[in-house]
Amino acid sequence: MSASFSPRFDLHVHSTASDGLFSPGGVVARARARGLSGLALTDHDSVAGLAEARQKALEEGVVFINGVEISVEWRETSIHIVGLGFDAAHPELLAGLKATQDGRLERARRMDASLAAAGIAGTLVGALRHAARPAQISRAHFARYLVEIGRFADPGKVFEHYLTPGKPGYVPHRWATLSEAVGWIRTAGGVAVVAHPGRYRISHGQMRAFLGEFRDLGGEAIEVSSGSHMPGHVRRFARQARVFGFYASQGSDFHGGAETDLGAFAPLPEDLPPVWRLLGW
Ligand code: AMP
Ligand code: MN
Ligand code: MN
Ligand code: MN
Repeated sequence: MSASFSPRFDLHVHSTASDGLFSPGGVVARARARGLSGLALTDHDSVAGLAEARQKALEEGVVFINGVEISVEWRETSIHIVGLGFDAAHPELLAGLKATQDGRLERARRMDASLAAAGIAGTLVGALRHAARPAQISRAHFARYLVEIGRFADPGKVFEHYLTPGKPGYVPHRWATLSEAVGWIRTAGGVAVVAHPGRYRISHGQMRAFLGEFRDLGGEAIEVSSGSHMPGHVRRFARQARVFGFYASQGSDFHGGAETDLGAFAPLPEDLPPVWRLLGW
């Protein structure tokens, strides 16, 4: 037994409150069944699932941490910032999330037009059938529809040919700025975390510039271990965490599909302070 308490937390999880396949309560039940000690629900730009998940966590006896994953545009790259442990009723945070969400439906209409011009008609209607909340319509719902109609075998393949910069179906969007996202999270008493840093297609120099800016704005943690990371990413971002003095976070980025499951990610290196120390665990 290790002397320090090492909870099995999954701190990056989606539900039907954004683009996940499980209801907020369903995610919590699955977390318990998978033997996790606790989780944070981190839906895209939304805290709408937190109350249901928290209630279910109480019943199931698992720790629940408020979470959100905010879509940010930084130097024309889309970057995600996870917030953990904030007051989910804070007006400034809620207003910021609403402003970030607004426009998803209009963007989806333009995605539909772009895909129609590329020869695939009716994708908005199809994608909306996969979205529990129309206002939260995302590229993931379009990808599921394109899989449903047999254009591709899985969502990952869709994103290789459609929906990404330079490809049909991609429509740029004005997301939050880095300063706004970190500010809203901190104002609401939470911890700002860089989500899945291994996913961004930016140079190592740009990554260092980004992490410096994030830290200067009050960002405190980075997902060293992510279900969407490749082997090698853990070592690389553990090093960055040490250089910048960040706490380390971990999460599966579970959406309910076959790509990753709750709790499925590599362990954090033991020398790094885990982010749950900032959250009272
Ligand atoms: P949006 O917030 O509308 O820009 O949609 C982004 C979502 O699409 C992400 O949160 C993922 O769920 C999904 N996504 C993006 N890129 C990929 C990919 N390469 N493979 C599978 N899903 C992806
Ligand atoms: Mn998603
Ligand atoms: Mn993300
Ligand atoms: Mn995510």
